[in-house]
Amino acid sequence: MSTRNEINRREFVLGASAVTVSGVLSASAFTQIVSDKKQTIHPLTIPTEPVLVRVRVGRFRNGQRTTINGGQVRAIDGVLQTTNSIKDLFNKDEDLHFVSHKKSTFTIGSGEKQKIVTGKLHVHACNDNDDTAFDVVAHVPIEQYLPGVLAGELYAHWHPDTFAAQAVAARSYAIVQHLNRIDKSHFDVTDGPSSQMFLGDVTLEAAHNAAKVTQGVILAWDSTVVPAYYSACCGGRAASALDAISTSTQHEIPPLFGRKGKDVCHSLESATWRATRSSRMFRMRLNDYAKRFKIPELESLRSVRSIEPCEFNKHGRPTKLAIRDRRRKRHYVNARNFLSAANASVSALPSTTETIWSSTLSCTKSGNELSFEGRGMGHGVGLCQYGAQELAGQNKSWESILQWYYPQASIQAI
Ligand SMILES: [Zn+2]
Repeated sequence: MSTRNEINRREFVLGASAVTVSGVLSASAFTQIVSDKKQTIHPLTIPTEPVLVRVRVGRFRNGQRTTINGGQVRAIDGVLQTTNSIKDLFNKDEDLHFVSHKKSTFTIGSGEKQKIVTGKLHVHACNDNDDTAFDVVAHVPIEQYLPGVLAGELYAHWHPDTFAAQAVAARSYAIVQHLNRIDKSHFDVTDGPSSQMFLGDVTLEAAHNAAKVTQGVILAWDSTVVPAYYSACCGGRAASALDAISTSTQHEIPPLFGRKGKDVCHSLESATWRATRSSRMFRMRLNDYAKRFKIPELESLRSVRSIEPCEFNKHGRPTKLAIRDRRRKRHYVNARNFLSAANASVSALPSTTETIWSSTLSCTKSGNELSFEGRGMGHGVGLCQYGAQELAGQNKSWESILQWYYPQASIQAI
């Protein structure tokens, strides 16, 4: 295992973090996470044919442009335009939606953000009331999509069984997103941590092998596909999807209630984190977030005195925190909203340098500083990537890793 300093604190699937996609705030990620209204979403029957995943690989706003195969695309007054060099790439029946004539390999963006993707490429203009943007969406067969996810989610040297377990979770997750969104949106997943990482076409052998070994295999419950959430590290105690993701009825299934007992990751040094924040900025960030997303319990928060977990799920993971302010008033906030707010981007404030990674935390105040210490990174639902790697190192198969993290799920080939 790497030492603490070598651990790449990538923006793993925090699920509740301030998510940025191509430099813009992903409002959908927030609203989905914050809503506590019961959402009745029917379970999803296992598809009989392979799914074509629609991955949003870029969103560009307000006069921004991007490069596709060396030419430029932009939206002017909500209407798509390309430079002449690439105009023949697309079928332009309408000026709000371009589709590539055929499946091909595309180079999107330039420099560090460049991504190479093989599939059909769609460009969608998105015009809502006060904003215009356009999305670049790649339509990629699911088995071809998975290696780019695995390469983005796991360390290249990790165990083949960790890769295989992750492949099944990522496949199940993508299928659920696809089925949920097919009639509602022009994309199923993004390529960042708000859904799952996707690096595009990759050569990583471990990633290709895992997709092949598990080809077509998904997690199922009662003939439906399990939305197989996963995160970097649960810190030892499992979260339930109902608490940590949303109250969707799709989450009312045993594989997403969390397993009993401590996970193998609980003793890992890499499962711990520290973060120091200015108390004043922290309070202002929470107030701003509360105003934007209508969380009255945080809007009236004044100077923070203490923060501590005060309610726990049946596995011992904090689900609610109490924040006491200088008027000694206690503000109760659910863990999901707390993490979203603590890591939110606020245009008037400097960006956060140290992430609050999970609700399993303690906090001490000294002067104007809040010092956090915690365990686990991410929402803690389903597969724990660090734990899966530990189990694989103990010769556990990918099937038994999945059975541990998604209790009672069945492992089936489509
Ligand atoms: Zn774990």
